[in-house]
Amino acid sequence: MDVYRLPRHVIPVRYGLRLEPDLKTFAFIGGETVTVTVLEPTTEIVLNAAELEIIEATIENEGNASLRGTIELDETMERCRLTFSDKLRPGTWRLNLAFKGTLNDKLRGFYRSSYKDQAGATHVLAATQFEATDARRAFPCWDEPDFKAVFSTTLVIDSSLTAVSNTAVQSERLEGGKKILRFGDTFRMSTYLVAFVVGTIEATEPVSVGRTPLRVWCVPGKRRLAKFGLEIGAFSLRFFEDYYGLPYPGDKLDLLAIPDFASGAMENLGAITFRETALLVDEQAATHAELERIAGVVAHENAHMWFGDLVTMSWWNGLWLNEAFATFMEMLAVDAWKPEWQRWTTFGVSRAAALSVDGLHSTRPIEFSVTAPREADAMFDVLTYEKGASVLRMLEQYLGPEVFRDGVRDYLRAHAYGNANTGDLWVSLGRVAKQPVPELTDGWIFRPGYPLISVSLDGSVLVIKQQRFTYLPGSTDAKGPPKEVNQRWQVPTQIKITANGKTETRRLLLSEEETQIQVPKEFESVLVNEDGHGFYRVRYAPGLLERLVQLVPDSLAPIERFNLVNDAWAATVAGLMPITEYLDLTARFRADRDKNVWAILIESFHFLHRILAPAERPALEAFVRDRISPLLTELGWTPKPGENDLIRQLRGDLLRALGTIGNDRNVQARAAELYLASRKDQTTFDPNVLPALIAILAHSGHAARYNEFWERFRSAATPQEERRYLYSLAAFQPVELLQQTLAHTIDGEIRTQDAPFIVRLLLMSIYGRVLAWKFVKANWETMDRLYPKNGLRRMCEGVIGLATPELERDVHEFFTSRKVDLGGKTLDQYLEQLHLAVTFREHASAALSNYVGKFLTS
Ligand SMILES: [Zn+2]
Repeated sequence: MDVYRLPRHVIPVRYGLRLEPDLKTFAFIGGETVTVTVLEPTTEIVLNAAELEIIEATIENEGNASLRGTIELDETMERCRLTFSDKLRPGTWRLNLAFKGTLNDKLRGFYRSSYKDQAGATHVLAATQFEATDARRAFPCWDEPDFKAVFSTTLVIDSSLTAVSNTAVQSERLEGGKKILRFGDTFRMSTYLVAFVVGTIEATEPVSVGRTPLRVWCVPGKRRLAKFGLEIGAFSLRFFEDYYGLPYPGDKLDLLAIPDFASGAMENLGAITFRETALLVDEQAATHAELERIAGVVAHENAHMWFGDLVTMSWWNGLWLNEAFATFMEMLAVDAWKPEWQRWTTFGVSRAAALSVDGLHSTRPIEFSVTAPREADAMFDVLTYEKGASVLRMLEQYLGPEVFRDGVRDYLRAHAYGNANTGDLWVSLGRVAKQPVPELTDGWIFRPGYPLISVSLDGSVLVIKQQRFTYLPGSTDAKGPPKEVNQRWQVPTQIKITANGKTETRRLLLSEEETQIQVPKEFESVLVNEDGHGFYRVRYAPGLLERLVQLVPDSLAPIERFNLVNDAWAATVAGLMPITEYLDLTARFRADRDKNVWAILIESFHFLHRILAPAERPALEAFVRDRISPLLTELGWTPKPGENDLIRQLRGDLLRALGTIGNDRNVQARAAELYLASRKDQTTFDPNVLPALIAILAHSGHAARYNEFWERFRSAATPQEERRYLYSLAAFQPVELLQQTLAHTIDGEIRTQDAPFIVRLLLMSIYGRVLAWKFVKANWETMDRLYPKNGLRRMCEGVIGLATPELERDVHEFFTSRKVDLGGKTLDQYLEQLHLAVTFREHASAALSNYVGKFLTS
């Protein structure tokens, strides 16, 4: 038997839950009556509990007097064992438990969050975050996703407060100065989806979507920032009812912005919780990227109400399906809402992030077996979300969108109110598609990595080969080639061939190591991965690449151009393409107007900036100016009438890059003027430009500017403004200022939901990295104690920026001597990415500085 799973001779059916939180003493008392089914005679019941004191346990059934149980708590296993003097006979029993606990400050379980009102007074609210295994910190329960039960919750709160839970309030009364709120029964669901929020909070007027009232909740004074979230909330709810062909399964839907929140959002049934930046926004003052994020997160969580909440994975190994699917649906919904946002093109950036990690030897398969539930914590990563969603998109395009949708409908109907596995979705899709799905998908889901598709022309034959892509060479077995080389995938490809001025598209399922296809006479060019949905990289023989580049930008779609640059950059980092060739290639994209193409170009410039010696940086900066300036000159600093959101965002991105990594003095001077003007009158200002100005002024700023930005951070009017100024505090250069920022990451001035991300930025900053690394080493215990687990994990990603051989050695030494475990393969992946940067530095620095040196004089 699996030691991590609860015994199954007693099954919960219904929880009658009563909780009384005290926001002044940060404590709560609770009671529950759990209706259970006893399946075989027993004297023992085992369930989960952690950091709870269980005061009393009794059990009763029809015709039997109540039995008192002895209580044993095991904090290591997070379990509670109840033993009764008489055997419980099979049948239905009622288990009564009385318990108490604390409202912790760890952003998990039942926890406290605080905020200041406009007069500066601090207020506390209580909220929950239970996924993956923290419901047990709020009430004793069978805390595994397939112990689904009905929850009937009563909250006893201060009469001046408000509370929200998964379902609508059924009754409200006052008793002994307390407000007693009784919520309706939920449908059968998993413990990790239960939620309560208690405090002084206010809601918007409900919007009706069919028969579902939809509201946004926030702390007082922020309702004006709820409109945009409500709009995408209503749209996506309608969209999913349509797509799934099933009505929303709950009785109401509340979206709640919580001031302290560890992740982005959480799909509690009917009571979705968010960090404020992911829900509240002033649409007029936000950048395109900020709005896109909110739209995406809201749609993502709504998608979960069916996929995740109505049908739930049986165990944590199935988490990927939950998250990959919600990520995929988020794209679909936002794309339907705002087609002009080109959401699937922008998704290229997310896919690229997954390709980066999945190109490491330390990657992992999307799905792997999970025994200890805490292993699930490390699954919330780019492979689960972004690779998973990419593979689903590839499958959807291969099977056809309607077939795919019908398969999803079949799956949801077959497993509603229950649990399912990856294989169950493949069965449904296969049934509708009338073809075996696992053969196609297993290589992508259960095995690590992805293929590199190489294309060359041999006379009139196109030779297409696949082999696994990795950045660093594999460890070779003395007896033969590296095993990974032999790994093969079934690769759905769309190949566009142009000959004699005409184009044709061929759809192939590549399954062999090598495939040959005949090209027509007067062959001109070939594009593999047309439309860009494939999760693989393409490497063209030099002649073929040159013919494609000649089609840039007009004859290739933005996602195709993005993939071309992204794959070329990956090939460069992997040592398959000379750095000089890549730098030449970047010149061909000077006129490109796609923000995603520029995102990858700018990211590669940052990478190069991090590996160069300080004396060489001015040359790289001149090179960056050469690449970026022409387009910015063309776009100008102010939007033209009728210009779309994507171009506006691009302008902001280019400006920021030119003023920071391009170190352009003119841009910096102009930014200072404009920033001053914007303080006087923000209305005339394009919101996409303002964050760039803040970043530029921080980059070139000193103490006075730092103090100004610190104040702006503390008095910000919107979550986005707060975030911009907060992040800018990591972008200054003088070490004494960065030292102040670091100090605030552990002194309580910066929320623990944000502090790890600030440290991460400083580790990635060439000006702050040495300082930040020293600080992390000196304050590791404090950070480990203060930060939420996922925050600490994300912070450590910053070590990728410590790209010198000396720092790399020190990083290894630190993590080894401390025996740091970030869960799963997370730390190995960071260390391999760091090693990759250091290796690249050794191999490419000379050619790089030689190349960019020419730009200094020009
Ligand atoms: Zn999710």
